[in-house]
Amino acid sequence: MNAYAIVILAALVAEYVLNVVSDLLTLRHLRPTLPGEFRDTFDEEEYERAQAYTRTRTRFGLLSSTVGLAVLLAFWFAGGFEGLDTLVRGWGLGPIITGLLYIGLLVLGRGALSLPFSVYSTFVIEERFGFNETTPATFALDLAKSLGLGVAIGGPLLAALLWFFGATGPYGWVYAWIAVTAVMLLLQFFAPRYLMPLFNDFEPLAEGTLREAIFDYADSVDFPVDEVYVMDGSRRSNKANAFFTGFGANRRIVLFDTLVEQLDVDELLTVVAHEMGHYKLHHIPQRIAISVLQTGVLFLLLSVFLQVEGLFQAFYVDQPAVYTGLLFFGLLYSPVDLLLSIPLNAWSRHHEFQADRFAVDTTGRGETLVGGLKRLAETNLSNLTPHPLTVTLDYSHPPLLERIDAIRAS
Ligand SMILES: [Zn+2]
Repeated sequence: MNAYAIVILAALVAEYVLNVVSDLLTLRHLRPTLPGEFRDTFDEEEYERAQAYTRTRTRFGLLSSTVGLAVLLAFWFAGGFEGLDTLVRGWGLGPIITGLLYIGLLVLGRGALSLPFSVYSTFVIEERFGFNETTPATFALDLAKSLGLGVAIGGPLLAALLWFFGATGPYGWVYAWIAVTAVMLLLQFFAPRYLMPLFNDFEPLAEGTLREAIFDYADSVDFPVDEVYVMDGSRRSNKANAFFTGFGANRRIVLFDTLVEQLDVDELLTVVAHEMGHYKLHHIPQRIAISVLQTGVLFLLLSVFLQVEGLFQAFYVDQPAVYTGLLFFGLLYSPVDLLLSIPLNAWSRHHEFQADRFAVDTTGRGETLVGGLKRLAETNLSNLTPHPLTVTLDYSHPPLLERIDAIRAS
C-alpha cells in the first residue's frame, strides 16, 4: 500500500465512521414526547409513526452504506480495478471506447448492487409507512428511462471528457470545464420542458381561487409568471413538496398534487411565495455559479493527479489511463467533497431562512406559513428533532423548529 492508498482508505473509513456516528446520534436524539409546538398538527400516534419512520430509514441507511463500503474495499483490494482494466483493454477498442466501457460497467455494477436496496426502500419501507404509490411497472420504467438518459447524455459527455484530458494537452481541463458547464446549463434550461415530463405529468394549475391568489401575488412582487404547474407526485409517493426549476423561458414553479390536496389556499400561497423568494433573491444563479466554480477546481486538480503514478498504483493498476484516473481521483476527492458540503449546506439553509423571510414580508402571513410547514412535516413524517451533527452534515433545509422560530422573530 502506498501513501495514496493509505490516505484514500483512511478518508473513506473516516467518512463512513462520521456518518455512522451521525446516524447513531439521530437515533438517540429522537424525543419520546411530542414537542409542544406541534400539538395542534400531530397527534401522539402520528408522532410515534414519524419517529418510527426516522428510525427505520436511519437504520436502513446504516446498512446500505456499510454494504457499499465493504463492496468497494473488497473490489479494490481483490484487484478488481486492474482485473476489469485488463479485460476491457483486451478488447482493443481504443482509449475512448475502452474508457466508456470501463466506467459504464462499473456504474452498471454499482447500480445492480443498489437495486435491491432501492426495491426494499420503495416497496417495503415506504409501503409500510403508507407513502408508496409506485407500481412495479412504474419502478421498472423509471429505471429504464434513467438508464437511457444516462447513456444518451452521460455517454457523450464522458467521451468528450476522456478526449479533452487525453488528447488536448495542458489546457484539456479548461475545455472539459467549458463542456461540462455548457451541458449543465443546457440541462437546467431544457429539463423542465423535455426531461422532467418523461417521468411525470405537469398540468397547469386549474382555474380557481388558488390560481388567482398566486397570480395576484406574483404581480405584487413583480415575479414574471405565465404558468404554475401541478405535478402528479402521487404517481409514486404520498409525500408532498413544491419546487422551483429551470430559468429563462423554461422557469417553472411546480406544486405536487399531494401538496395542493393537503394545504389550504392561504398555506399554499405562502409556500409559493417562499419558492418565488428563491428566485427574487437570486439563489439559483448563485448556486449555479458555485457549482461551475467547483467544477473548474475539480478539473484543474484532476489534470494534476492524472500525472501522478502513485494514484494508479494505489489501486493496483499497471497502465495509467484517463478513465481510471478520473475514477480514482473521484475517490480521492470524496472526503474533500464531504468537507465542502458542510459550508454549502449551511449556505443552502441560510437561503431557506431568507426565502421564508421573503414569503412572510411579502404576504404578511407568518403563522400561515408556519401552519403549512407543520402540515408538510406531518404529511412527510419528518424528523422534528434532528441531531445538530446530522443537520451540519446533511441538511439542506433547517430543522423545522428553527424555521418556525426564525419566521416568528421580528
Ligand atoms: Zn426553499
